[in-house]
Amino acid sequence: MLHIYNTLAKRVEEIQPATPGLIEMYTCGPTVYRDAHIGNMRTYIMADWIRRSLIHSGLKVIHIKNITDVGHMRQELAEAGGDKMIMAALAEGKTIQEIADVYAGRFFRDEARLNIMEATVFPWASHHIAEMLDINTKLIANGHAYEKGGNLYFDVPSFESYGKLSNNIGGDLLEGVRSEADPMKRDPRDFTLWKAAEPGRDVKWDSPWGPGFPGWHIECSAMASKYLGESFDIHTGGVDNVFPHHEDEIAQSEAAFGKQHVNYWVHAQHLLADGAKMAKSAGNVFLIEELIERGFSPLSFRYLCMTVRYRHRMNFTFTSLKAAEKALTGLRHRIWLWSQEPETSGHETETEEYRQRFWNMVESDLDLPSALAMTWEMVRSEIPNRAKVALLLEFDQMFGLDLDKAPAENAVTANVTETLTIRGGHREQSDYATADSIRWQLTSDGYVVHDTWSGPHARPKTPLELRQDKWASVSSSREVESHLDKPADLDFTFILNAYGYPSDVKRCIDGMLQHTGNHSVEAIVIDNGSTDGTGELLEEMQSQLPELKVVHADHVIGDAASKNIGLMQSRGRNIVVMDGSAEITGNILDSISETLSDPTIGIFGPWGLSTPDMQHFHEEVDDGDADAMQAYCMAFRREEVNKVGLMRECFRFYRNLDIDYCFQFKDKGFRVVADSSLPLVRHEHRQWTELDDNQRDELSRKNFGRFLKRWGNRPDLLIAADAVGFDNQKFHH
Ligand code: AMP
Ligand code: ZN
Repeated sequence: MLHIYNTLAKRVEEIQPATPGLIEMYTCGPTVYRDAHIGNMRTYIMADWIRRSLIHSGLKVIHIKNITDVGHMRQELAEAGGDKMIMAALAEGKTIQEIADVYAGRFFRDEARLNIMEATVFPWASHHIAEMLDINTKLIANGHAYEKGGNLYFDVPSFESYGKLSNNIGGDLLEGVRSEADPMKRDPRDFTLWKAAEPGRDVKWDSPWGPGFPGWHIECSAMASKYLGESFDIHTGGVDNVFPHHEDEIAQSEAAFGKQHVNYWVHAQHLLADGAKMAKSAGNVFLIEELIERGFSPLSFRYLCMTVRYRHRMNFTFTSLKAAEKALTGLRHRIWLWSQEPETSGHETETEEYRQRFWNMVESDLDLPSALAMTWEMVRSEIPNRAKVALLLEFDQMFGLDLDKAPAENAVTANVTETLTIRGGHREQSDYATADSIRWQLTSDGYVVHDTWSGPHARPKTPLELRQDKWASVSSSREVESHLDKPADLDFTFILNAYGYPSDVKRCIDGMLQHTGNHSVEAIVIDNGSTDGTGELLEEMQSQLPELKVVHADHVIGDAASKNIGLMQSRGRNIVVMDGSAEITGNILDSISETLSDPTIGIFGPWGLSTPDMQHFHEEVDDGDADAMQAYCMAFRREEVNKVGLMRECFRFYRNLDIDYCFQFKDKGFRVVADSSLPLVRHEHRQWTELDDNQRDELSRKNFGRFLKRWGNRPDLLIAADAVGFDNQKFHH
């Protein structure tokens, strides 16, 4: 039987069903005004593993997963920033219900792609308002709730064991996080059960306290009790649900029904992406759909989730996803090959030992990393291959990886089989050159050839393998070699972070390469995970322009990481970092090389900024010393990169990265100098203009915070510092 960490008991416990043979389980489901991202999906995969393990123990599992389609809609709109789509849909006359249906449909599709077993019931919150009102009425009747101004609040001090799940009793600490302090509450920890509708709100229902909508937590109390009763076995969610969502759910349900609400609470730790919390503003929110767009199989993500215990943070990277996909393809391929072998006997004891070890690991707090490691040990062991297949297929009842799905072997044509036989003939005659060239031909025709015990086999390449054939790509700047320790052998390197918009990218590159005068020049363009045809355009241009060098990133790696790839790969004495919205219209290189021959000048470009106080940067420096240079065009000597360092990769969005990098130069005593007479023009900056106001604010604020944290206490670096009495001279050569 499964043993699992119970957040309520704060220890690992054996699951004991309240009703013999039956487990009742509730999982906090998706909010359907946005897409569920891979972090959300990790949490649902954990619940699926719990369920599969219990089924293996012979239990029947009733699994409820709610669909959140009411409540904090307004807050979502304000916070999420990505809700241009919702606004557009509303503007198009779509109803809230239609929008929710679209997102719910995509959620169901992603769950199916990940082999997450369908819940027994997916109840929708908006269909359970009556049940929520019932619980609220009970809570008023038994003195656990009070009404004020059409709002209904849960009276936290009236519920003695409040805090038993999260240990959070000084709720005021976290109270302000989700909602502004509410003067109508008697106690700051009190939370909303029902909220009066504000004027103009159209998603609202009648209630004994007037028109309004339910608080955030009550939906789960209502739906759980409706489908599972007043008390049930297991409740799951992500760690962020522990407080306040689940703490409040316990309070509501136990105060209303007078019974222990849930016996086992299980929480999945969060998924980080590229080392950072997933956030729209960091550009590292990934969807299953996007993994597919980039050639991955969704089940590779499921495999990846097995490599880290559910209770630990997991750092998602495309590098690790690639490894997971390779491992998964390898397992499937072995099963396919081994299934064709004759059955042999022997090693029965070891086989049985593997089986038992496997299920013990699974049942010991879902230790899938160990179970997976053991699986590979078994795969490489001496037991008969057919026994391995049987074990793998049994383990797959837990893994849910479709291991019996051959990597499309059967799609190999008779032609390919014949070619393989011919190749085999050449090998037998030790004509390896011909054999290799046939193999090479098959590879370029889209097949992978494996030489195995029973002779050569070919399988069609997976979508990821085909994509990787199209062009090599990197998953982070760490995968790129740095040439910065080698001497420059060109006059100039242009660097362009291409974040999409192919026509802008083309205009910018043409400008770079058409006005080079007598200088030797290269242009390094980083295709920053585009899916809008920019990658294809760059491949095409690269085949025609010898000065152009393209590096593809397999996902959006962010602005600083992308530019760092350019810096590390550069070979020009001077570097010019450009933005796709800027266009060079004449010779700027003479002027740059002349200006940068002054060793006191670190950064030079047309569009300078100045600030009196670090808080506000103004576009007013046309000529002479500036505090920073805008990234539309900034030039510096390559050799100084070793001195000032690379750009800080926490800047995934461009904003303020340029200022930050300029301060790295200033910190080393260099000046930043502007000359707006350089022949350049600026076009619409679509990376900015295509964001909505929410997104702009959030993205800018976060990056500005990063800048201030590092440089806020260095007003001595400002050009205005002279005026306010800082001794600037010591920083100059
Ligand atoms: P939501 O749609 O925000 O209600 O989240 C759905 C589920 O995903 C909840 O159980 C959350 O706790 C969980 N969750 C949210 N963010 C993450 C993340 N980054 N990693 C893992 N789970 C998450
Ligand atoms: Zn919930």
